[in-house]
This record gives sequence, structure tokens and C-alpha cells, in this order.
Amino acid sequence: MTVFKKIINRELPAKIVYEDDKCLAFEDINPVAPTHILVIPKKEIPKLSDIEESDKELLGHLLWVIKKIAKERGLEGYRVCLNVGKEGGQHIFHLHFHLIGGRPFEWPPG
Ligand code: AMP
Repeated sequence: MTVFKKIINRELPAKIVYEDDKCLAFEDINPVAPTHILVIPKKEIPKLSDIEESDKELLGHLLWVIKKIAKERGLEGYRVCLNVGKEGGQHIFHLHFHLIGGRPFEWPPG
């Protein structure tokens, strides 16, 4: 079981900032910016490349939740990051968006 599934199950503590029937958002344990929130589906999808057509609405919902959290926090500019697979920098294989804000960002990312 992944760390994130344990957070969903409340077997591991997390600073939860938003929850509904489809998703959970919580503070990243190792923030890279003043705001660093992870938004995850409750459904266990390891990575973006595993989604099915029936997950399209769920993915849109996650982005909607990200927008709402960013607005609540007064973030005007921010970065939304989705790492896919080991080569894409993914370490935890439960699909998650990073919402990162509160400092300037550069491009290209590292
Ligand atoms: P990724 O490299 O895209 O898979 O991102 C995984 C993220 O999960 C990293 O930013 C970690 O700091 C974060 N993380 C790992 N364990 C926990 C945890 N128990 N609670 C909150 N965030 C975590």
C-alpha cells in the first residue's frame, strides 16, 4: 500500500486542507515553496499513464479543486506539477498533482 493510500485511510497523519468524496488535498511533508499541497484522487491510480477514459471527469475535478485551493490562498501565479513515472521524477505511485506557490518559478524546471 502506498503512503498516500495510508493517508486516505487515516493510517498515517497528514495536514489535510481539503476533502470530498473523490479526492484529498494535504500539505507536502517536504515543501519546496511556501505553499506546497498535494491533490490526490481517492481512487488508486498509480500514475497518469494508467488512467482510463472513465477517469477523465475525475482528472478535471482534481484540477478544479486545485484552482479553488489556490484562490482561497490568494495565489495568483502558481505551478501545478504532475510527475509521471520514475524518469518523470515520480516517487510515490499514487497519482498526485503538486500545487506549488508563494515564490517565483523558472523555466525549464530541473
Ligand atoms: P513525487 O516525487 O511527484 O512522487 O512526489 C511525492 C511527494 O510526496 C514529495 O514531494 C514528498 O515530499 C511527498 N511526501 C512523501 N511522503 C509524504 C507524506 N507522508 N505526507 C506528505 N507528503 C509526502
